[in-house]
Amino acid sequence: MKTEKLFDTDAFIKTNNARVLKCTPSEREGYKNLYEVITDSSIFAPEGGGQKSDEGFFDDIKVVDVQEFDGELIHFLEKEIPIDFDTVQKINFDLRFRRMQNHNAEHLICGLIHKKFGYDNVGFHLSESRDKDGGLLGIEAIMDVDGPISAEDLKEIELNANRAIAENVPIYAVLPTAEEAKNIPYRSKLDISENLRLVIIDGYDVCACCAPCLDSSAQIQLVKIVDFMPHRGGMRITLKAGLDAIDDYIKLHDDNRESMKILSCERGECAAAVKRMNDKLTEAHEEKVSLKRQITVMLEKELREKILNSNDTFIVYPADDIDEIQARALINDNIALAEKVIIILFEKSENTYRFVAGKNDKLTGISLKALAAKMRDGLNARGGGSEQMIQGSIQAEEKDIIDFCRKNDEE
Ligand SMILES: [Zn+2]
Repeated sequence: MKTEKLFDTDAFIKTNNARVLKCTPSEREGYKNLYEVITDSSIFAPEGGGQKSDEGFFDDIKVVDVQEFDGELIHFLEKEIPIDFDTVQKINFDLRFRRMQNHNAEHLICGLIHKKFGYDNVGFHLSESRDKDGGLLGIEAIMDVDGPISAEDLKEIELNANRAIAENVPIYAVLPTAEEAKNIPYRSKLDISENLRLVIIDGYDVCACCAPCLDSSAQIQLVKIVDFMPHRGGMRITLKAGLDAIDDYIKLHDDNRESMKILSCERGECAAAVKRMNDKLTEAHEEKVSLKRQITVMLEKELREKILNSNDTFIVYPADDIDEIQARALINDNIALAEKVIIILFEKSENTYRFVAGKNDKLTGISLKALAAKMRDGLNARGGGSEQMIQGSIQAEEKDIIDFCRKNDEE
């Protein structure tokens, strides 16, 4: 059954009275529980050409998907609808319009690239982000061209595309016969001869395309290339156009204002201010590393004296200002000094310490794994490790930890 595709030549029809010609439960994989509906005319564009099908309703019945199978335009509806009656088709026009803005911006950019470099578009899709209820958050167009382009050239292409937008040139679709098509130079990803539809941006681009299109370049409003990278010998370019580009600008503007406040800088100077801040951070970091080194030297000296002058087998050493790496280094550097178990306490918060404990190899009578188990029971400790080193956290006062070790020492 043939459907008059109203969207082919007028993409701005938002509602349409259509006659339902067919409605049957779908047998297709992925479409079971839905109804396949064919109408005499339709404003619903099917999925194709890199974008999903239109969304909307037949009366109050949701249209879940629209596909073209064997030349038939099939609407997949949530519920059954009576045949031989009229239905009011209504599309989500905001979604349609944003898609057209991004899609036609892609045509314009690709047309300009083709003119300047002769490259072809070898991949395109509209990427849509949605919230958890399916509400549209934003659209961007992602496209691949088959040759390299410098950042500078892309900037020029973008500028020329925005000039073409300001020129307000007509955009329209034509359906030439195979014979007529022979005399029209156009861009196409596929070799199409039958049912050819060309979208023309006057003076800028002619491209085979099945998606609904705008009436004029001015309706694109704005195009911004937001990302590009080398891709399979060519380029992958991401752009935002129209309302999505404007939404993005508002978001970036708000973000920039916040950054300006934090950095105390003027508009357009955030990057320089961040660089200055980064330099200061690097400087501060180097200073911190140097101070840490000095602290470690001091701690080493203190710990060494404690190990050599104490009669206890368990040496408990609180060192608040160090981290785990330093604690391990302190143990490794001093464990050979005497037959002791060294327990370093660090990162105190409330009365929780983190600890690392190591054992001198010659100390055969003590098992660190057994010590870890005892600490879990007696000191609310968590953690474990090997016979050479254990680590974890202890919820106890320093004094309790020392007492605990003394008691262990006597056993
Ligand atoms: Zn297209």
